[in-house]
Amino acid sequence: MRRLCLAAAAACLLLLAACAGPESWEREILAMDTVMKLTIYGENAPQAGEAAVDRIQELEGLLSVTGEDSEIYAANHTGSAQLSPDAAALLDRALTLCRETGGALDVTIYPVVRAWGFTTGAYRVPDDGELTALLERVDYRQAALEGDRLTLPEGVELDLGAVAKGYTGDQLMALLAREGIASAIVELGGNVQALGAKPDGSPWRVALQAPEGGYAGVLEIVDKAVVTSGGYQRYFEQDGEIYWHIIDPAQGRPARSGLQSVTIVADEGTLCDGLSTALFVMGREEALDFWRTRNDFECVLISEDNTVAITEGLEESFSLYGDWEGRALEIIRR
Ligand code: AMP
Ligand code: MG
Repeated sequence: MRRLCLAAAAACLLLLAACAGPESWEREILAMDTVMKLTIYGENAPQAGEAAVDRIQELEGLLSVTGEDSEIYAANHTGSAQLSPDAAALLDRALTLCRETGGALDVTIYPVVRAWGFTTGAYRVPDDGELTALLERVDYRQAALEGDRLTLPEGVELDLGAVAKGYTGDQLMALLAREGIASAIVELGGNVQALGAKPDGSPWRVALQAPEGGYAGVLEIVDKAVVTSGGYQRYFEQDGEIYWHIIDPAQGRPARSGLQSVTIVADEGTLCDGLSTALFVMGREEALDFWRTRNDFECVLISEDNTVAITEGLEESFSLYGDWEGRALEIIRR
């Protein structure tokens, strides 16, 4: 018996207090295989909003792994491509994150992701022999990016699915700022990114989904990205086992690291997106060791036993929510 759960609701939901006052513009669209919602405040909101929608569609066209007109599709099918500035900038940033996470993030995981059916919907459990053969094609160090020129060895294929929405969030923040917007929030599936504060000057309140549904906590943010990777976001079930879409590149199988979700909070959406996937693969202890080596992000980790750990930078801005309020909250120090 197989079942697919595409988390139709975003991993993070905004608790927007009814916001009367300044002019606002809101739009929900389907893009990058997810529901996106844009909320923009200010005089120029409608014009900025339309420009933001165009920008999302442009990026989807460039970055999609399955869209036959995308640059990534072209590179995967011909072994090389002259990339647009967007695709080159994102790939360059992503390859840095692959290196920094020791390959926990690996943008060449595509042959494995496809074998499990996560891009086609034809879900199946590949056998050991098939995975061993596919893993020979997985190694981000094989993707050569020189300027805008990408070269991939035979059999190596890219999937920017773990970072594309994060990059899109960064690009939307830059676009909206250029359009003179001071207050906006975008939900791109499990990614939330805010420009400035709410129009009344108070922080945005972003709810973190609990693995079994409902909400586990709330984060207050200003000018930040919040990105969650969770095993519950996209999965299928076969013979009583659940298989999710975040793959451990060392095994070629869904990462079973003891975590149910990882939420990253930082200034940069691309960083948040890459690290949410990578730290999910690493598991709690390795993820926290990694955090201790850096000072550019904070995180919320929900373990399989439903314990919640936050890094110390979130002490003032995170609180447990609803049914989770009485639970223990561990604050991780450097
Ligand atoms: P995210 O939802 O941001 O955690 O990204 C998950 C998506 O990235 C999956 O649907 C795959 O397309 C791809 N992916 C899965 N595992 C990895 C990995 N270890 N490194 C890079 N991309 C991955
Ligand atoms: Mg990600």
